[in-house]
Amino acid sequence: MPVALTIAGSDPTGGAGLQADVQVFRSLGVHGAGVVTALTVQDTAKVHQVLPSFPSVVLEQLRVLLRDMRPDAVKIGMLATDDIALNVELALETLDAPLPDSVARPPRVPIVIDPVLAASDGTELIERRAWARLQDLMRRAAVATPNLPEAAALTGCDVSSEEGVQAAATVFVSDYGAGAALVKGGHADGPPRDLLALRQGATVVFEWQGGERIPGGRIHGTGCALSSAIAARLAHGDELRIAVAAARDFVRQAIARAEAFGKQARFLAY
Ligand code: PLP
Repeated sequence: MPVALTIAGSDPTGGAGLQADVQVFRSLGVHGAGVVTALTVQDTAKVHQVLPSFPSVVLEQLRVLLRDMRPDAVKIGMLATDDIALNVELALETLDAPLPDSVARPPRVPIVIDPVLAASDGTELIERRAWARLQDLMRRAAVATPNLPEAAALTGCDVSSEEGVQAAATVFVSDYGAGAALVKGGHADGPPRDLLALRQGATVVFEWQGGERIPGGRIHGTGCALSSAIAARLAHGDELRIAVAAARDFVRQAIARAEAFGKQARFLAY
């Protein structure tokens, strides 16, 4: 079984964060490893409190883990603070170091970065001063998966038009150095349309993917699940466009079957 590692915040409801990531990994046939960047106090209505992990412990967890176990893909979610983001960046260098008994660089492990800024209730999940580090981390990403508000905040682009969304995706790829950007359109009114921007040589190519909006109100943790599903498929060795298509199908089906475990939001069912 391939291994995927999630570096994310804990959500005690199990609907988002590390708990959701690991469930998605397993349901897609991947063993899930996880390093917690923050504890949250939350229910299905809102995030009540955020307690970032000790940055040094995040670094040590990653270093110890990565010396022992080589993941086939990594997903990065909530990073909480600038110090944690820095330590994640440092620890990921372990992935590029030559393996014992070899001088050759190992193959690059694909990294999916979900640039989580805030929860749906508006609670900040990363401090503002860490945004620059998050932008810097993008050069490590095989794909970044911002939603529309995150794409706007991290690029300064006005994402209210199709051209604006393409401009924001281009900033992720051309300026920040991500291999690709999937800008998720769910926050716009009307039928959701996602944009996948892929680096192709010196240019960026765009693929718009639409779908009907599935009625039924708020569902918790869809962004976490989508990025984890992409990481799971990449861990299986899928090419990026195939991984993204499979992950979108997975999340669509899980939205259609969503279940109410808590009082205030439904969860994906898969
Ligand atoms: N808690 C954690 C740890 C998360 O990573 C996220 C989203 O990324 C959330 C909560 C918020 O989920 P939602 O946007 O569904 O409120």
